[in-house]
Amino acid sequence: MKKIIVTGGTGYIGSHTVVELIESGFEVVILDNLSNSNIDVLDGIKKITGIKPEFYKVDLADSSETDKISDVLKNADGIIHFAAYKAVGESVKYPLKYYKNNLNSLINILENMQKYSVKNLIFSSSCTVYGQPKELPVTEQSPILKADSPYGNTKQISEEIISDTIKTSEKLKAISLRYFNPIGAHESAEIGELPLGVPDNLIPYITQTAAGIREQLSIFGSDYNTPDGTAIRDYIHVSDLAKAHIAALKRLISNKNKTNSEVFNIGAGKGNTVLEVVKTFEEVTGVKLNYQIVDRRQGDIEKIWANADLAQKELIWETEKSLAEALLSAWNWEKKYRGIK
Ligand code: NAD
Ligand code: UDP
Repeated sequence: MKKIIVTGGTGYIGSHTVVELIESGFEVVILDNLSNSNIDVLDGIKKITGIKPEFYKVDLADSSETDKISDVLKNADGIIHFAAYKAVGESVKYPLKYYKNNLNSLINILENMQKYSVKNLIFSSSCTVYGQPKELPVTEQSPILKADSPYGNTKQISEEIISDTIKTSEKLKAISLRYFNPIGAHESAEIGELPLGVPDNLIPYITQTAAGIREQLSIFGSDYNTPDGTAIRDYIHVSDLAKAHIAALKRLISNKNKTNSEVFNIGAGKGNTVLEVVKTFEEVTGVKLNYQIVDRRQGDIEKIWANADLAQKELIWETEKSLAEALLSAWNWEKKYRGIK
């Protein structure tokens, strides 16, 4: 059985990927410092898969802590590195917190991979590396524009750190997956997205408003150059995104990669406006949302969606679930978590 280390594995995307890994026959070890997740996620994973993965509470940005888990690292067949801070707005306020955590943890992981000859790395990148693209949809060849936030910059720098390191190490191989907007929850509703505090992201804000925790959803801007004036994003079901990691990992393990540092867009390949998301949510759940249009949010781009043809061709992967299914799963998770009938 291949052993895969999942950093940030109790987090939102990490936990869904752990489920897919276990269901695909991998042994999983999770490393997480629980700075943005809860240990109970392990019980959710066990309810779905029957297996509670091995877990170590480690701050990956601290090299003295990673030294303590050398035995785990020694025997790994691959690492999926999710662990990072991800709030764009917070990163503008506290840039050093973001550079320190996101870059140090990656450097630490790469050093340990070299030290213990772990060959395969999957890295969580983001479509934020494209900024506001001039041409849509974006392909992997689209220009990388200057990052709008320290968070976005950590993803750009991380991709560079990975490709520079790979140039100097013969055995190391990596795939960076540029995620678009992951949403939704596992169909069992045992795991899902649980932001701490007031949600920044659209879908948790919608489900918390529908659940009565937030009074009103604010839609940021209605004067964009889009069909209804609200901004466009490419929303992808988190379980589809999780499956892309399995495809990428299998590609590396079976040496099917074309270069030792590859990059793929992972999106649905379709854009939806904020108002379309709200309308679809109301239709599939039957819940009327209280919302108001407010000013644009600083730092937001107008529109982006993916050309995911490369992932389809090379990873033999494509999305299976619709926006409606993703929104319904997010609502089912919120209801189950809050005990709403
Ligand atoms: P998340 O916050 O739910 O999960 C990240 C996990 O990493 C958390 O469990 C947190 O406790 C852990 N972590 C953070 N710093 C750590 C450290 N120093 N040591 C150990 N553990 C640490 O976030 P997510 O939405 O699951 O995102 C996972 C990855 O995907 C991140 O790298 C994020 O930047 C990237 N990403 C997310 C999105 C999105 O919209 N959610 C989009 C593009 C890229
Ligand atoms: N959005 C919104 N209200 C909210 C949160 C988000 O109108 O409370 C909009 C946001 O302006 C963007 C889209 O929803 O156009 C997706 O935002 P999110 O923060 O989920 O993801 P981003 O694309 O910014 O990473």
